[in-house]
Amino acid sequence: MSLRERDYDIIVAGGGLAGMIVASSAAHYSNELLRILVVDRNPLSVMGKKTMTGWICGDAVGKKSVEYMSKRIGINWEYPEIEHPVKGVIAYSPNHKTAVSFDGEGYILNRKLLPQKQLKDAIERGIQVRDRVALRSLIIENNTVTGVEGEDLVNKSVFRKSAKVVIDCTGVTSVLRTNLRIKSFIQTRIDRDDLEATGRYIYDFDIASKDDTFFHPDYCIIHLDQKLAPGGYGWVFPKGENKVNIGVGVQQRAFDLRNKEMGLRRDLKMLIDEYVHINPVIGNPRVATSEIDDGNGWGTWSVSV
Ligand SMILES: Cc1cc2nc3c(=O)[nH]c(=O)nc-3n(C[C@H](O)[C@H](O)[C@H](O)COP(=O)(O)OP(=O)(O)OC[C@H]3O[C@@H](n4cnc5c(N)ncnc54)[C@H](O)[C@@H]3O)c2cc1C
Repeated sequence: MSLRERDYDIIVAGGGLAGMIVASSAAHYSNELLRILVVDRNPLSVMGKKTMTGWICGDAVGKKSVEYMSKRIGINWEYPEIEHPVKGVIAYSPNHKTAVSFDGEGYILNRKLLPQKQLKDAIERGIQVRDRVALRSLIIENNTVTGVEGEDLVNKSVFRKSAKVVIDCTGVTSVLRTNLRIKSFIQTRIDRDDLEATGRYIYDFDIASKDDTFFHPDYCIIHLDQKLAPGGYGWVFPKGENKVNIGVGVQQRAFDLRNKEMGLRRDLKMLIDEYVHINPVIGNPRVATSEIDDGNGWGTWSVSV
């Protein structure tokens, strides 16, 4: 098929955080002249959702990144998709006596609201968004990617579209990358050691005591501790005076080793529950269930590092 016969100039596979930014950037730099299609398996109402349990993330983003995006592609993130401002990040040693401060303001996002803002911005730029399509593979002609193929989840039919350029933004577990059938230098599988098993809660809580090394409403806190988070770290990111995104990321191999050494059989959820339990500031934690958090209070996921 010649380039002119293709259905779109660009197909973006996956309408998560990255996919929507890529699509909006392409629209911006082409003066909205390119025909761009974003394809995602989720319904529009829950765009960007990673798993059944939610939009798993630490929710933190640097102010400079938000400003960069605003300046370069005219996309402005404001409240309510920005939920809470922070002044910086502080990393603590296991005994909390050594602190390394990473200055620089940032924001804690609401990852459930943000995709709706991204969707609105994309549609305003003339980007087409096709939801409820599970992509399975890339269409290949002469060792070149010419489109995407998958299943229309609504009427169970084959979905097949061609484009001059296909951009895979389906995330760390991408089936498109894993099943890539062209000769290229693209890494099709991510090494297990480069993946962190992560999980987090979004909690409303009562302040049980004061200890700025465990929770601070103005700072994102990171705990480096091989017992608490083998091969990774724990985080306590404030989403308000009494609201927190708290979680742990571990390297699976280091976690397995820690379990073996300590004669334990802990899973990731148990590790996170333990991490919440030892935090003296967080009293009476309740999974956040207000409209902006409902369905996003708890989850685990893999993330590449
Ligand atoms: C616990 C945790 C904490 C994190 N903390 C932070 C943080 O504080 N700050 C930060 O910047 N980053 C953080 N990250 C990383 C951040 O969440 C990811 O980098 C980001 O979500 C990646 O975006 P993405 O668009 O590439 O992928 P994803 O967000 O995974 O989006 C992929 C999209 O593709 C769609 N999709 C997938 N497969 C298919 C398919 N076959 N067919 C059709 N559609 C498909 C999905 O529905 C989804 O919409 C964290 C991640 C985790 C797991």
